[in-house]
Amino acid sequence: MPSTPTPSSTPPAVALAEGDGIGPEIVAATVAVLEAAGAKLDFHPVKVGEQVYREGHAAGISPDGWTKMRSCRVLLKGPITTPQGGGYKSVNVSIRKRMGLFANVRPCVAYHPFISTRFPELDVVVIRENEEDTYGGIEHRQTAEVNQCLKLITRPGCERIARHAFEYARAHGRKRITCLTKDNIMKLTDGLFHRVFDEIAAEYPDIESNHQIIDIGTARLATRPGDYDVALLPNLYGDIVSDVLAEMGGSVGLAASANLGERFAMFEAIHGSAPDIAGQGIANPSGLLLAAVMMLVHLGQGEVATRIHNAWLRTIETGVATGDIYSAEHSSRRVGTGAFAEAVIANLGEQPQQLGVVDYRTITAPTTENASASAAAKAPGRPEKQLLGVDIFVDWDQPGRDPAQLAERLRAAVPAELELGLEMITNRGTTVWPHGLPETFCTDHWRCRFRSKSDSSAAVPATEIVMLQVALLAGGIEIIKTENLYSFDGEPGFSRGQG
Ligand code: NAD
Repeated sequence: MPSTPTPSSTPPAVALAEGDGIGPEIVAATVAVLEAAGAKLDFHPVKVGEQVYREGHAAGISPDGWTKMRSCRVLLKGPITTPQGGGYKSVNVSIRKRMGLFANVRPCVAYHPFISTRFPELDVVVIRENEEDTYGGIEHRQTAEVNQCLKLITRPGCERIARHAFEYARAHGRKRITCLTKDNIMKLTDGLFHRVFDEIAAEYPDIESNHQIIDIGTARLATRPGDYDVALLPNLYGDIVSDVLAEMGGSVGLAASANLGERFAMFEAIHGSAPDIAGQGIANPSGLLLAAVMMLVHLGQGEVATRIHNAWLRTIETGVATGDIYSAEHSSRRVGTGAFAEAVIANLGEQPQQLGVVDYRTITAPTTENASASAAAKAPGRPEKQLLGVDIFVDWDQPGRDPAQLAERLRAAVPAELELGLEMITNRGTTVWPHGLPETFCTDHWRCRFRSKSDSSAAVPATEIVMLQVALLAGGIEIIKTENLYSFDGEPGFSRGQG
C-alpha cells in the first residue's frame, strides 16, 4: 500500500555515480538543476563503470563501492560503458539483481509539436519485471547442436510486479493496465504472469485491466500508442518494448527509468554512454534529469519534482534544444548540455503553456517495502504435489535420427519390472514418437517422457526414476538432463508434446 512520505530534516543519502562517456556531463547538469530547485539530497559519490572494470572488478563496482552504495537509500547513475568481451558483467544487471530491484518503470512520452515524433499521442508507462524470466542467464550447451536458456517465472515475482503496477496507476492517476505475454505458447511461465495479473487486478476495480498477446500487442503499441496507458510486461518483452516506445517519443536522450526494490532504488536515463559525442558538451541531459524527477517523487519530495518537471517542459516549449532534438521548424536555440540546464534553471517556477502541467505534490510513490512478504502472505497455501514421472533428455545422434529406433533402444534398456514406461518422445517440443511425421526436423536433443505403464495419471516413487536412469545409462543412453513431472493439486505442472 502507498505509504505517506515522512518529512525529515535529514536529507536522504543519495549515491551518485557519474558513469562513463557523456555521464559526467549530464550528471553535472542534472545536479546543477537539482541544487537550484532546492532538492534536499545528501550526495555520496560512488565510482562505477569502465575505470572500475579496468581495475579488475568484473562487475564494474569495487567491494567498497557496493558498501557505499548500500549505505544510501537510492542511486542516481550516469550511463556506463560495458567493455566488450573479457567476462565483464553489466553494472546495471549486477545492481538490479544483487539489490533486488524488481520493478523497472519507464514513462514514454511524446512532446508534440515541440519535439518531432510520428506519434504525438504517445503517453505510455512501461512497467517491466526486472529480475526473472530468461535474465537469470542460466544457460547450458547440452549437445553438439543445442543450447538452452532457462526461463524462470515465480508467483511472488509476478505478484509484486503486478501489485506495483496497480499501485503506480492509482498513485499517478492512470486508468488502464495492459498486461502483455505469450501465454498462448508458454502456458506455464507466461501463463502464471497473466493469471497472477488477473488475480491482482480483481483487487483494484477502479483500474481497468486487459491482456494482449505480446506479438499483436507490440504491433499495436508501435502503431496506435494512444490506445495504451500503462503496459506491464515480463522482463525480456519489457526490455524490448520499452526501448521501442522510448524511441517513438523522439529521442533516446529524453527517456528516464526507475529501478525499484524493497530497500533500494536506482534512477538513470535509458540511453547509454554515447561515446560518439562524449566530452563535446552537446549531450542531452533530459533523460537523467527526468530520472532525477522520478527519484524526488520516490523520496517524497514531490514539490521540487513538480517545479523541475514543469520548468523542463517549459524549456522544451520555448524551443531550447540540444542537438539530438533540435529542428529548424520547432526549435529556437541550439544549445549544449550546460546551457540546456541553465535554461531549465531559469524556468524554475514557470509552467508549460501547451504541454500538460505536472503535479506530483499529492502523489505518494507506491511503496515497494515488504513487497515479497506481502506476496508470500497472499500466495495460496502450498499445493499438493505428486510425482507422476520424468522427462529424460537424451543426446542421441544416430544416422537418420529415426525416433522409432531411439524408442526401441530406450524400451530395450528399461527392465520389465519397472513401473515407468516410455510414453512419448519429442524433439524441440514436437511429438516425434509415437505417431510422429517424417517431415519433422530432428536435432540431436530428445525429450523422452516416462510415466506409469498401468495408469499414466498414477503417482510413482522417486526411487523408480533413479532406477530408470541407472538402467538407461547401463543401456548406453546418454542422459543430459532430467525434469521430474509433477501435478499440483491435480493440475499437471508440465507441458504436453506439440502436435
Ligand atoms: P547509446 O545510447 O550510448 O547511443 C546511441 C545513440 O544515441 C548515439 O548516436 C548517441 O550519440 C545518441 N545518444 C545517446 N544518449 C544521448 C544523449 N543524452 N544526448 C544526445 N544523444 C544521445 O547506445 P550505444 O552506442 O549502443 O552504447 C554505448 C555504450 O553505452 C555501450 O558500452 C553500452 O553497453 C552502454 N549502455 C549503457 C547503458 C546504461 O548504462 N544504462 C544503457 C545502454 C547502453
